[in-house]
Parts: sequence; structure tokens; C-alpha cells
Amino acid sequence: MTANLLDFDLEGLAAFCERLGEKRFRATQLFRWIHQKGAADFDQMSDLAKSLRAKLHGSAHVSGLPVLSCTESADGTIKWLFDVGHGDAVETVFIPEDDRGTLCISSQAGCAVGCRFCSTGHQGFSRNLSTGEILAQLWYAEHHLRKRLGKVDERVISNVVMMGMGEPLQNYNALVPALRAMLDDHGYGLSRRRVTVSTSGVVPMIDRLGQDCPVALAVSLHAPNDALRDHLVPLNRKYPLAELLAACERYLAHAPRDFITFEYCMLDGVNDQPEHARQLIELVRGHRWADGRVGLPCKFNLIPFNPFPESGLMRSPAGRVSEFAALLSDAGIVTTVRKTRGDDIAAACGQLAGDVKDRTQVVERMARRRVVMIHPETPPPSRTKKAEA
Ligand code: SAH
Ligand code: SF4
Repeated sequence: MTANLLDFDLEGLAAFCERLGEKRFRATQLFRWIHQKGAADFDQMSDLAKSLRAKLHGSAHVSGLPVLSCTESADGTIKWLFDVGHGDAVETVFIPEDDRGTLCISSQAGCAVGCRFCSTGHQGFSRNLSTGEILAQLWYAEHHLRKRLGKVDERVISNVVMMGMGEPLQNYNALVPALRAMLDDHGYGLSRRRVTVSTSGVVPMIDRLGQDCPVALAVSLHAPNDALRDHLVPLNRKYPLAELLAACERYLAHAPRDFITFEYCMLDGVNDQPEHARQLIELVRGHRWADGRVGLPCKFNLIPFNPFPESGLMRSPAGRVSEFAALLSDAGIVTTVRKTRGDDIAAACGQLAGDVKDRTQVVERMARRRVVMIHPETPPPSRTKKAEA
């Protein structure tokens, strides 16, 4: 079996090249061809020695993921569905804004955490993605969009958020090399502030991330007390709020930003009352550091719940969301309300369900989806159809 070079960060690729008897700078050249130019064909890599190209042909390949569909929202958001084999598919979402282009990447097919308000959580866990499968989403989106926008040598994706399907910190070993390739100057060259890992609160892995690859951290809080959080985010039973906040405190020593972002999904009548806001204020403002300081530097990002039929939950009315935001802001906590993007194509937060749910009909559904599959070479129409009727 030959190696997929998308599975490596630069260190891994250097080790691979060493096994082929090649020097480190060859790995750097190769890495740049793959990630900066989007090349997959070794013969295209003109400055690599012929002998190395011959060795690579026998031992390696660069393989992205098959695209099952590409759907574009009225607001410009684009969602791709990638086939990861055995009936599983994952989703990746590009969100263009005036000053940035953000790619939301999946880390697992499904998710084992099972949050009540999350469509991915409802479908259950299928498997971890490999480093190559995580990176393939960025590799494909970046180079596809460059071609489409006619920006051959200009970066299109300026920010990455690990907020697609799955809990990234439950796929730690594959995640970290992927993050390193995103940050590498010979790779995507993104700054640590522009790469965000979002977690439901896997405390030991928050600590490891701080040591190994401290990028921006977002923590999905969703409740101000353990009783409610146990119910909404079952992982809270293992890592309750006090432990989670202590891990956030430790992370701040390494974090590229001097605050933690707390995400809070606004659920009608569940966690959106003034009393919940007051408890949240007390939780973060009253947090006592190990050294006696008080108050956890943080920002809140309130996410209007994106409903899906099985959840039995409803979105908080807009007025209640702004009242809630005002209570936090008045207490001196920077609070934003997330604009919902791409909800007409089910690409908004928590609507990503991939294709794992109904395995019995998966082959049939995939065949139907292939009808609207868009190939990388084909310039997409200005607006594609919804992937599925
Ligand atoms: N597993 C990670 C990252 C993926 S979820 C995590 O939970 O943080 C990305 C964000 O979308 C999280 O904050 C999650 O709580 C939120 N989310 C999930 N389902 C949602 C829904 N139906 N509506 C709005 N936000 C949702
Ligand atoms: Fe998993 Fe995050 Fe969804 Fe919870 S919100 S089920 S952790 S993907």
C-alpha cells in the first residue's frame, strides 16, 4: 500500500522522505507543491529530481476525497459533502465575508458526545477521520476556490474553524498534524489566532492541545450549571463545569488570544432565561484562579439554535436572544450573536448530518447525489441546486 501524502505534516513528510533516502529540503519542496499549489501529480512537480519522482510513483500518492455534492446558499455559503467510504460522508462549509473566508471543517463521521441540540450528535458516531481526510477538506476547498475565483496564487481561506461534524478533541492524534499543516509557512501559513478548535469540553485534551499546538480555543458551554449541562452536553457528567473552567484557565497560559470564546446555543425556554444569564455571569466573573485572581477572560458567542426535526427543541425568539446578550454585555462580557449562515442549505451550525444516519439506503442516496456532483475542474454555476430533493 502506498502512503497518502495528505496524511503528513511537514515533520511526517520529512521522515517519509528520509525513509526514501531523500533530504529534508525535498520534503519541504514536496509539501509546498501539495499544499501551496494544490498539486497531486508528481510529474507536475518540476523542480523535484526525476529520481525522486520515480521513487514517489512507487511509494506514495496524493488523494483528496471524492465530492458527492456542492451546494451554494443564497448568502454565498458553500457546502461540500465528501465521501469518506463505507457509506459515510462528511460536510465542509465555506463562509465568505468581506474581510475573511472561513472554512468549517469536520473531524469525525458522526459524533459520540450526543448533544441534544445537535444533528450530528443525533446520528451517532461512525469513525474518526484521518489527518489526510481532515486536511483534504482544506486542500480541496482552497484550491477549488482559487481556480473558481481566478486567484491562482492568492489565498482564499483565511480562517479555519474545527466546528463541522465531530468532536475534534476526541480525534486528537489525527487533529494535531492537520493543525500543524494549516499553521506551517510551507503549508497554509495560517496564524494560530485564525485557526480555532471548538470543543464540547474534553478536559485532558484541552491541556494537551495547549502543550502541543495552542490555537484559538472555543468551548461549547450551552448551560450555566451542571444540572442543565449534564442534560444538554452529556460529556459534562465526565468533565463538569468546575473542571472545564479550570482547563480553560490553564489553556490561557498558551492561547494565542488572551480569552476563551464560549459558544452558547440559545434554546427556547431551556437555557435562555435572565436567570441563566445571571448564573453565567457569576460562573465566569466569579471564577477563582489557582493563584487567587478572580474572573476568566472570555467572550460569548450566542448561537441561535438551528432546528432539526428530531431535536424537539426550538430557537429562542430574537428578542430574548438580544435581552440575554444585553445582560452579559452589561456585566462587561463581550458578547456577539452569531449570524446564521447557510441555513437554507442546512449548512448552519449543528445542521451537519452528513450521510451516516440511514445506512440502509446510503448507496441509493449517494447515487442520486452524484447527479449533482461538481468536479474540481468544472467551474460551478453561480448557484447550484440543493443536493437532494
Ligand atoms: N464538537 C465540537 C465542534 C462541532 S459543533 C463542539 O461541540 O464544540 C460546532 C458548534 O455548533 C458548537 O458550539 C455546537 O454546540 C454548535 N451547535 C451544534 N448544534 C447546533 C444547532 N442545532 N444549532 C446551533 N448551534 C449548534
Ligand atoms: Fe458532537 Fe459538537 Fe454536536 Fe456535541 S455539538 S454532538 S460535541 S458535534
